[in-house]
Amino acid sequence: MEIIHDVKTLRWYIKQIKLKERTIGFVPTMGALHDGHLRLVQKSILQNDITVSSIFVNPSQFNNRNDFKNYPRETESDISKLEMINCGAVFVPSSDDMYGEQDALNFDFGYLEEIMEGKFRPGHFKGVGLIVAKLFNLVKPDRAYFGKKDLQQIAVIRKLTAELLFDVEIVPVNTVREKDGLAMSSRNKLLSKEDRVHAGALYMALNKAREKLIGGENVNSVKKYVTSLFNADSKIKLEYFEVVQTSNLRNILNIDKNMDVSLCIAGYLGNVRLIDNISLN
Ligand code: AMP
Repeated sequence: MEIIHDVKTLRWYIKQIKLKERTIGFVPTMGALHDGHLRLVQKSILQNDITVSSIFVNPSQFNNRNDFKNYPRETESDISKLEMINCGAVFVPSSDDMYGEQDALNFDFGYLEEIMEGKFRPGHFKGVGLIVAKLFNLVKPDRAYFGKKDLQQIAVIRKLTAELLFDVEIVPVNTVREKDGLAMSSRNKLLSKEDRVHAGALYMALNKAREKLIGGENVNSVKKYVTSLFNADSKIKLEYFEVVQTSNLRNILNIDKNMDVSLCIAGYLGNVRLIDNISLN
């Protein structure tokens, strides 16, 4: 596996691949890799000649300094994991490589920044958009892989790709979960042992809500039910629970059987922020 630390070497490496007319699959990550990340890489390896992954804890997408500071960093073991599954190359840049003194570009994703993750993490998607645009420009992938765990991120990336005319296919990948249903996340490593026991509650709530909606209960009453699960005694402090149309993330009040619907949830367990979603259909 090629381990590339700077932009110049990456540009040269990508040029060689393009000269040979090989397809490139790309998996951007912030590291502290788990089986969810590796599933993306494996899917890319199956579908492309060369798979490039990146590991970069992107400062511009953190709206909370402590979250950025505490984010797990495990580059050495990440590189070994990627090597083990035969990833073609990994790009591990420094902040100076990715950002100039002061980037002036300011993406605006409109509605997507006003709801759910956008609402609770102001500026987050501007940072995601900026780093993914930079990485797409460098890696020039034919396909790029993103986890459905971050459903709203996929919508943002699709918008970015469409508006900037990136010639890349966005491939969503199913969420990989722990035994108790907790969606794998690098942030799970920050949970205390005691809190970890409670973390499966988000996925349980999503499934109970799904059952109720399928049983015909209306959206507002299901929302009240989920809110009541995370009352003052609950270890998890709920930020939001939303029922949305998967394609555009618009809120839904009445479920139509032909609609693709997603149930999205976020909350804090201690000071660790967890998000998850499942599809209704
Ligand atoms: P991150 O390192 O958290 O920025 O995630 C990098 C990529 O991995 C994103 O596309 C995530 O959506 C995806 N990802 C994170 N967790 C999971 C998971 N449990 N299952 C599938 N994909 C995931």
